Amino acid sequence: MRVRPLKNYPISLTNRGQLSLFTLGCGSAFARTLGQNNFIIIKGQTHLMLDCGTKAPSRLRSIGLEVTDVRNFLITHSHADHIGGLEEVMLTGRYVAGKKPVVYIDPKYRRILWNDSLKGGAATNERHRGKYLRFEDFWQVVYPSAENGLPRDAKSFDIGELNVKVFRTNHFPEQAQRWETAAYSVGVLIDDRILFSGDTKFDASLVADFDEYYDIEWIFHDTQFGTGGVHASLEELASLPESVRSRMLLMHYPDGWQERLEKVRSLGFHDFAREWSFYDFD
Ligand SMILES: [Zn+2]
Ligand SMILES: [Zn+2]
Repeated sequence: MRVRPLKNYPISLTNRGQLSLFTLGCGSAFARTLGQNNFIIIKGQTHLMLDCGTKAPSRLRSIGLEVTDVRNFLITHSHADHIGGLEEVMLTGRYVAGKKPVVYIDPKYRRILWNDSLKGGAATNERHRGKYLRFEDFWQVVYPSAENGLPRDAKSFDIGELNVKVFRTNHFPEQAQRWETAAYSVGVLIDDRILFSGDTKFDASLVADFDEYYDIEWIFHDTQFGTGGVHASLEELASLPESVRSRMLLMHYPDGWQERLEKVRSLGFHDFAREWSFYDFD
């Protein structure tokens, strides 16, 4: 893995073919710095944006991109630091750029995302023959395919040379004990090499479940400082085996992370994922 801090922009959404993750932000929902935990995967001619929070459109603009430059989206769950920028994506797409972005989404989550979050600001902008706009008026929808035998209801899709698998996680409500009884949220396995936890509570077998099937090289894992609530704490993650911690880059963290850098290293984690950086995997 090679880390390249952002130097020049506009950034390119293509590269020479290596798998690359760009950290548009890596902060928690309450961080005042760091942006929100939204990444862009880039590989060859392909890109995929992982989540699009309230701050994402302005973060994109600050590196020379408009939301309409992003073609492909994957949304992990419905908190505002992950979906708050989507209304701008939809309305700018329909009314400014005249194009529909592609969203890779499970049918079950499509209903939740539209009915519980996006419909209010989008549907009633037009009425045709007595009917308001629908999700598919703003998005080109692709449903991932079920991956039989894989843990956590995993589903898979390809974009060009890139393979993406999504799997269910246990993020919220706080009281949910297992992913099966939690609200919809997913983590992402990228090219069967990189595990991106998305937002999740501490889940002791999450990495082990996928290590059993794949050679997971690096793990981007959600964390918070202090145990409780809906994220995995540093202390909880420290209970994982050394072979897991050493592959782990911590993300979705609060302000003040610099004071914990030494602790993170002494606990055996690789590092904090850094905002505005490319992580290249050759
Ligand atoms: Zn979040
Ligand atoms: Zn969340």
